[in-house]
Amino acid sequence: MNKALIAIDKSHSFRVYLAISTKMVEEARTLHQTSPLATAALGRVLTGAGLMGLQLKNDQDKLTIQFKGDGPAGEILVTANGRGSVKGYISNPEVELPLKADGKLDVGGAVGIGTLTVIKDLGLKEPYVGKIDLVSGEVGEDLTAYFFLSEQQSSSVALGVRINTDYTTLAAGGMIIQMLPDARPESVEALEQLLAEMAPISSLIDETVKQSAGKTEEAIIDMLLERIFRPLPDEFAVERLEYREIHWDCDCSVERLEQVVISIGTKDLSEIIEEDEKAELICQFCGTKYQFDKEHLKSLLEESMQREGTSDVE
Ligand SMILES: [Zn+2]
Repeated sequence: MNKALIAIDKSHSFRVYLAISTKMVEEARTLHQTSPLATAALGRVLTGAGLMGLQLKNDQDKLTIQFKGDGPAGEILVTANGRGSVKGYISNPEVELPLKADGKLDVGGAVGIGTLTVIKDLGLKEPYVGKIDLVSGEVGEDLTAYFFLSEQQSSSVALGVRINTDYTTLAAGGMIIQMLPDARPESVEALEQLLAEMAPISSLIDETVKQSAGKTEEAIIDMLLERIFRPLPDEFAVERLEYREIHWDCDCSVERLEQVVISIGTKDLSEIIEEDEKAELICQFCGTKYQFDKEHLKSLLEESMQREGTSDVE
């Protein structure tokens, strides 16, 4: 399932963004043929980006999250928008490492040491860019640090992906708890204790889904919210504000890939037309192949020449 919700506590101390993203992560796994470790790493970033997308004010606002570490996973790049559309890729979808001592997939080891960059395109003249050093490469901790260092925002990010023995996605999801400006001081303490004692979010999702036969997706995510925040004192009881959705969606198209071909430049494009007489472009996000025959390339070359012509005048 793919379901999200936004909630707020009674005292208006914090806001909650919660998502079950099992279907989205499984779609990414199928498209990219990821190993269990790559599914976990990419799945966490996809879910984190999807949750951050829910924080965007407008549907057309976009954000890009890039994990660039020195580990064997290579780069992980994900984009999300305010409508809940998410897409992404991992450079090495076959990455494998031994399990950690606690039996978990070693996402931090796969990502390695490096940087996390977040680019937010909010329709302004310049996009907002925030960049931090990775804390652990475990994704949730890195995003928590990003909010604090780059946005001066006290938030806590928990992300998790559980894999079936047949390598399909068993459960995936995540949560951002965002402290609000007028947060009551006791709420911070109560939340810290809650998070310290909380089971991994993927386990909570797995258990909730298993107990929810016949229930709607809305009812299931309500159950999950209730389960997570049940230990809090009454004054910080959470109330749902709205249901949302995050889902896999690649918006690539012939038109978009035409722009890529044009950007190659007239010189290289002429060479491709002469030597290969065709070109094939593959969308990095979803693997869709786009074929360009000679005629099509020639028309794009013309467009490219016109553009270079105008830029000469400028
Ligand atoms: Zn695509």
